[in-house]
Amino acid sequence: MSRKEISLSDIRAAWARIAPHIVPLHIAPSSSLSQHFGKDIMLAHEYLQTTGAFKLRGAMNSVLQLDAATTGVTAVSTGNHGRALAYSARQAGVPCIICMSELVPQNKLEAIRALGAETRIVGKSQDEAEIEARRLVAEEGFTMIPPFEHPHVIAGQGTLGLEMLEQLPDLDTVLVQLSGGGLISGIALAIKSQKPGVRVIGISMERGCAMYASQQAGKPVEVEELPTLADSLGGGIGLDNRLTFDIVHDYVDELVLLSEDEIAEGIRYAYCREQVILEGGGAVGIAALLAGKVTPGDRTVVLLSGKNIDMGLHRQIINREEYRL
Ligand SMILES: *Cc1c(COP(=O)(O)O)cnc(C)c1O
Repeated sequence: MSRKEISLSDIRAAWARIAPHIVPLHIAPSSSLSQHFGKDIMLAHEYLQTTGAFKLRGAMNSVLQLDAATTGVTAVSTGNHGRALAYSARQAGVPCIICMSELVPQNKLEAIRALGAETRIVGKSQDEAEIEARRLVAEEGFTMIPPFEHPHVIAGQGTLGLEMLEQLPDLDTVLVQLSGGGLISGIALAIKSQKPGVRVIGISMERGCAMYASQQAGKPVEVEELPTLADSLGGGIGLDNRLTFDIVHDYVDELVLLSEDEIAEGIRYAYCREQVILEGGGAVGIAALLAGKVTPGDRTVVLLSGKNIDMGLHRQIINREEYRL
């Protein structure tokens, strides 16, 4: 596989394929941020997506292109990717088994089950759950849908870039969350193939950003996983990463890392000034602007990627109480 397998026409085809199944992107100006910075700042409200995060786009695009011989889909994710895959599979009438370790919190497990997927609890670590998912593929004809490292997933996430450019043809800066890099790879490909001058900025947390460390090292590396408010941005990029590492290297203009306090400030600002509930990962774009770590352009789009936060934690952050992750 190489990134040449994903072109603008693949992203356009993904958009046509998934459009009947997804909520279109809602973009609106933020008067408070625009006033604060003296520039046009728009918020892209993708947390309004069904299942509460953009991952539905990539999962749906993958499920709608499954090989006819496949018996079902599987993934190891109790977060936004797991939810997205469960929902997409049910829409398409395809069996779905989400594998997870015994350590998964009950509410996450129930959220996946409520979307119609079977859950399989194996072992005490992500690695053991992964072994079961691989067994389903090898012995039962399932297809594993990864959260970022797959052309269909990247093309699906890239539909956000098409929607941004369609609504705002003269945007000049886009702020995008960064973890495994499927989201920013798709968006950067979609936008830069049409408007190479647009700045695409990746934002993540200081506590354990594998893509940042990998770009610094010049090759995929592992980092220690640490608890963070931006839990949906955690995890590695895979030492055998072949797609998103290269696309981020070639297409992303800046990478910015945020402290936990800065991310908390983004969550608070979204709630108190925009009346929006965001998870930590969803709020890093606003947080990066507030922290002064990104200089906005004349027309900046800030992606708000997800809202799936524990509401007890959210309340503690808003009230500036002590919280534990
Ligand atoms: C997965 C996720 C991201 C990061 O996407 P990648 O493709 O892994 O970079 C950002 N925000 C939210 C809410 C997510 O669930």
